Amino acid sequence: MDYLAGLNPEQKAAVLQTKGPVMIIAGAGSGKTRVITFRVAHLINSGVDSFNILVLTFTNKAAREMRERINHICGPEAKNIWMGTFHSVFAKLLRVEAEKIGYPSNFTIYDTDDSKSVLRAILKEMNLDDKLYAVNFVLNRISAAKNNLVGWQEYQQNPQIQADDQSGGRGKLGVIYQTYVQRCYRAGAMDFDDLLYKTNELLKLHPDVLNKYQQKFKYLMVDEYQDTNFSQYLIVKRLAAVNENICVVGDDAQSIYAFRGANIQNILNFEKDYPDLKVFKLEQNYRSTQNIVNVANSIIANNKDQLKKNVFSEKESGDKIKVMRAYSDNEEGKTVAESIMQDRSSNGMKWNDFAILYRTNAQSRSMEEALRKLNIPYKIYGGLSFYQRKEIKDLIAYFRLTFNPNDEEALKRVINYPKRGIGDTTVDKIVVAADQHNITLFEVVLQPAQYLDGKAPAALQAFGTMIQSFQVLAKNQSAYDAALYIAQHSGVLKDLYADKSVEGLNRYENIQELLNGIKEFSEREDIEEKGLDVFMQDVALLTNDDKDKNKDADTVSLMTIHSSKGLEFPQVYVVGLEENLFPSQMSLNSRSDLEEERRLFYVAVTRAERKLSISYATSRFKFGTLINSEPSRFLDEIDAKYLELDYSAKPAQSSFFDDERSAWSRKDTNKSSGGDTFSKPKPASAAPVKTTSILAKAHVVSKDFKVSDTSNLQVGMQVEHERFGFGKVLTLEGTKPDIKATIFFKEIGQKQLLLKFAKLSIV
Ligand code: ATP
Ligand code: MG
Repeated sequence: MDYLAGLNPEQKAAVLQTKGPVMIIAGAGSGKTRVITFRVAHLINSGVDSFNILVLTFTNKAAREMRERINHICGPEAKNIWMGTFHSVFAKLLRVEAEKIGYPSNFTIYDTDDSKSVLRAILKEMNLDDKLYAVNFVLNRISAAKNNLVGWQEYQQNPQIQADDQSGGRGKLGVIYQTYVQRCYRAGAMDFDDLLYKTNELLKLHPDVLNKYQQKFKYLMVDEYQDTNFSQYLIVKRLAAVNENICVVGDDAQSIYAFRGANIQNILNFEKDYPDLKVFKLEQNYRSTQNIVNVANSIIANNKDQLKKNVFSEKESGDKIKVMRAYSDNEEGKTVAESIMQDRSSNGMKWNDFAILYRTNAQSRSMEEALRKLNIPYKIYGGLSFYQRKEIKDLIAYFRLTFNPNDEEALKRVINYPKRGIGDTTVDKIVVAADQHNITLFEVVLQPAQYLDGKAPAALQAFGTMIQSFQVLAKNQSAYDAALYIAQHSGVLKDLYADKSVEGLNRYENIQELLNGIKEFSEREDIEEKGLDVFMQDVALLTNDDKDKNKDADTVSLMTIHSSKGLEFPQVYVVGLEENLFPSQMSLNSRSDLEEERRLFYVAVTRAERKLSISYATSRFKFGTLINSEPSRFLDEIDAKYLELDYSAKPAQSSFFDDERSAWSRKDTNKSSGGDTFSKPKPASAAPVKTTSILAKAHVVSKDFKVSDTSNLQVGMQVEHERFGFGKVLTLEGTKPDIKATIFFKEIGQKQLLLKFAKLSIV
């Protein structure tokens, strides 16, 4: 029982409360995930069969880490726990039960690209304007419907939905939705949302199946509950209905997927669904220093919509939060990279102690460039997945067809790759014939003479026969042998081998890497079923992070804030704190969207354990033009007493300066990590940015508010702040341009602000 010693009394109480519904809604870093981990370990140690436990996590990586910890405490029993993301867990369940709802058990999982491709074909056939019916828009609409469990029939009949669509001039959405569903069904394919939608359907229509899994999953736990959508909520509710041993943990302040349908209502519903719910409060943050926790609290306090909670840290107060200004996005990259370099050598840290978090994927470019220049190893998480590369998707399409010849997206992808003389016109004809005779594309391919007018290319039938031969082979061979055979006999390997360009070589190597991965899978000893079909089951759900063999490599981590949820790093850089970037431009029109951005900022800063740095650039390339940017309003919201400004970055005025900087950088990389003589470039006279120039633009939240020049601000003056309202200046400290004002606001009390960020006017 000594593992319980690593828990505080509240956490321990939550771990020991194994029966009945339990909810923990608590702030970041308070040990919610730790409670789930220890709870599972405790259940197993108390004699609960590990096969009876279901844990739903936010990423597969989180599940893996949790399993390792549980394994540490309980040993190999940990292997039997069903644990993973909603999508991977219910894909696994559907593989067993799919036939009950009319799908083959080897159904294909369509990824987002596949879904878009299906939609594109439908829009083209229906001759619809691809601006009005933009593919992303249509897919979002269908996805939202599915996640609210609105099927196409209901979609077409619901007067409100119809009125909405009509008023937007998009009256055809219902029909598109219907066709999309029918196409996926014909292809034996489920898209990502179907994995949840169909699970709900299965559990609703088949009480015997529901009962089976209610008996199986006697104990359920859900991490990051605040980000579940209605479809996920209902699955959990259904499965837990008999035993009611359900524990959910989350933080409403970290809800960052409202745009995908996640709903705070699920937390409120939970209380209604289980009247004898036990609620546990966790208030102590074990992750971060006091300064970081205080900053996080001061940020989230600006949101109106929140469940109040008290979060504190008993760690040291720690460094202040460093705010770094740069003059361009490239400069920002340099500043961050140099700062990492310096901190690493002076504090004896490892590269993987550092993370750089950004709002949008596009921001990684300037960071990567700067890191590369200083030879800092890094890894991007959640970028384009290995499995989404063209050559990998091509070969995998052959595998998909082998196990599910009805998979239309796979068929269209490779029917003429490598080239075998089957043109687009022929493919179009196949689609029309399949529609006419109500059969699958593959059936047409196998008997072109019967279904196609005119002379079909001989290659067509040869292609069909080849796929059939793969099917026979895959039944009897190991995953690796089958994969290699298909790669060779489909012509994919040969085609890539023939391309001697650097990119071609790269693609060939990627295919080799995929084959190596399959080989490793074939040789695994911990699983019994090792056919290529088993390897293929979850491929569509895999991300880069799942594949990575060098996960322990010492590299700086780069990722979007969305993918950093639940993670922690000793040192965190949150970059791009600029208006229209963070908060994003899209969020500025409604309070709820803006509050979601603020929660995102809260998630970002609470990833940091020891040191947090925030940066912004005063200009940035966007769509090919350099635009000026102003500091984010979020900076203004942080109480200035927690901040330390580092404006050592100089504007890149001349190429001379750039040369000087990179020479300096090179010198440093060659140095041993002693760090004794490390000195930052000292730009004593960094060009000051005038307060007015930063703040000149009219503000978006309240259009009437005019920021005035506060350079003459005096103690005792009355001021108005854009959000905090009226107040009086109590003290002024520091020197220009970094003057801090302590102001007493009538509504919110005392607050310290950095004048140059503060949206103030003198009244
Ligand atoms: P988030 O909201 O970011 O997901 P969380 O509430 O899930 O955070 P955890 O990740 O479980 O928090 O815990 C944060 C850190 O604090 C982890 O490193 C964890 O090991 C540590 N921790 C939590 N509780 C304790 C404790 N009682 N004693 C020591 N360390 C703890
Ligand atoms: Mg967590």
